[in-house]
Amino acid sequence: MIVYFIGTGGSEGIPAHLCTCPTCSEARKFGFAQRRPSTLAIITETGKAVLFDVGTDIRDFLNVPLEAIFLTHWHHDHIYGLYKLRWMALETPLYAPEGHADALILREPKNLQPRTIKPGDTVELDTLKITAFRLNHQVETLGYLIEEDGKRVALIYDTKGLPESTEDFLRRNSPLRLAIVDATYPPGTDDPYHNNVDEAAEIGLELAERTVLSHISHKNLPFLKLTEYVRRRWRNKVLVAYDGMVFYV
Ligand SMILES: [Zn+2]
Ligand SMILES: [Zn+2]
Ligand SMILES: [Zn+2]
Repeated sequence: MIVYFIGTGGSEGIPAHLCTCPTCSEARKFGFAQRRPSTLAIITETGKAVLFDVGTDIRDFLNVPLEAIFLTHWHHDHIYGLYKLRWMALETPLYAPEGHADALILREPKNLQPRTIKPGDTVELDTLKITAFRLNHQVETLGYLIEEDGKRVALIYDTKGLPESTEDFLRRNSPLRLAIVDATYPPGTDDPYHNNVDEAAEIGLELAERTVLSHISHKNLPFLKLTEYVRRRWRNKVLVAYDGMVFYV
């Protein structure tokens, strides 16, 4: 499968509007340092597409039929793009947790077909097997284990650490080829709902051959400093995601 990182930022995106912090200022100099809110696609071996979170308008990045859309949770930075995408011409299943669901989307889903998904539920689509697991966040939030042909990828955002049941579940399924982990904040920050860079890397290193840090806030280190920090500590076992990154699994 191909993992396509369409958006790798937090709620505000980088640069945040009118913000002059070092991270946002750098992103106005280097296009590669800009980030859209979280949006990820998986392209299967047979060329089918599945979308995980829709933090941005996907039309310029992925203009193909979607087998399904999965939401990790209903925070706005993970669903902005749905308001527009629901007008698409093909009916498409939308799997999402029940808690804090967006009233407008549920009342007027247009061509989305909302379905509730719970921890432990598995959905089979084309060559993929997708299993939901619980995460630690402000609202009900799910991560997803995505399997194709014995190869496993875990999508782990938004979260602070992992619930014990999830840690056990992912250990049983390790080594993962890839862990994509919430790394919202810079090293040293302690937040109740999101990991910092060190916490995120630790989660990934336990479980996966490769870890990709994503959901990066403008409060994190500027792009070049962040990639340097990560490279020095963990070589190529841990990578920093960027918008447009493509990862072959
Ligand atoms: Zn988020
Ligand atoms: Zn900023
Ligand atoms: Zn969130």
